[in-house]
Amino acid sequence: MLIILRQGAAPEKIEHLEDWFQNQGLDTYKIIGEKQSLMAVLGGAGHIDADWVRSLDIVESVQRISKPYTLVSRDNHPEDTVIEVGDVKIGGGDFTFFAGPCSVESHETLLTIANGIKDGAQILRGGAFKPRTSPYAFQGMGREGIEILEEVKKETGMPLVSEIMDVSQLPLFENVDIIQVGARNMQNYELLKALGKIEKPIFLKRGFSSTLQEFLMSAEYILSEGNPNVILCERGIRTFETATRNTLDLSAVPLLKEKSHLPVVVDPSHACGMARLVKPMALAAAACGADGLMVEVHTAPDRAVSDASQAILPETFNSIVEDVHKILAALK
Ligand code: PEP
Ligand code: MN
Repeated sequence: MLIILRQGAAPEKIEHLEDWFQNQGLDTYKIIGEKQSLMAVLGGAGHIDADWVRSLDIVESVQRISKPYTLVSRDNHPEDTVIEVGDVKIGGGDFTFFAGPCSVESHETLLTIANGIKDGAQILRGGAFKPRTSPYAFQGMGREGIEILEEVKKETGMPLVSEIMDVSQLPLFENVDIIQVGARNMQNYELLKALGKIEKPIFLKRGFSSTLQEFLMSAEYILSEGNPNVILCERGIRTFETATRNTLDLSAVPLLKEKSHLPVVVDPSHACGMARLVKPMALAAAACGADGLMVEVHTAPDRAVSDASQAILPETFNSIVEDVHKILAALK
């Protein structure tokens, strides 16, 4: 941490601050100039509250050197994390498609959708527990939905990703290969801590009002409890724009990959909320370096019980897969 001290800062207050850092086991180095003075704090100041330091009356500004997220940071782990689910690899140069309906609706619908996408998608998605804005909207099939997912996994061989909403649901996820934490739960720290204690990969979606630093800190919660298998998912953030459901922050992709070794997946479906925008934004995500895509697919989008406006047909999904491969080949 680099601290620029205010002109005329009282020497005894500077000394007091130095003592405070030293009592935390950190080393301090001062440069006292005629006009400007600096204090460098070394030895792992990542956990120090920079806002508290900034609020002191002798402090002009504070620059962090070490990141507050040490485990997810690429600084301490330069090589990409590769997550393996059976034969599927996520991250490290492979491109993975996660696809399926927003919600599990019935065995027949899920199986038909899975059969329509299984040539292109490696992981089948489907929500059994649905976080809905309205308490009167369909809340998901719950336990029965998980059972349908398990059956379709057996029938198609596709590994599963599904959303958990509460720690109490964890026992139901035994046969779910990847557990999704939705945007609304990105800062549910008790849930993140519980998921850090298991080994299963966690698909962590960015909160719609969260900064990249907050997003990475949430991933840090999971890693700090011992689970290194986290997939980051950019799914659009809230801005002043109302033409789309959210605004897809594609600059997050190269930035997250620069800052962290974790795989980064893009969900253009929830970002745009409009079926016709899914393909162009999916292709853009592949072009800017994403490690995969999560896409909502339905065989009868107009009859989908949730997120009908953004569901694409299996044919459209398969054309995305084809074009993504062309983009990836062109960029090699
Ligand atoms: C979902 O994937 O179905 C979902 C609810 O997504 P998000 O948490 O990104 O809104
Ligand atoms: Mn959805």
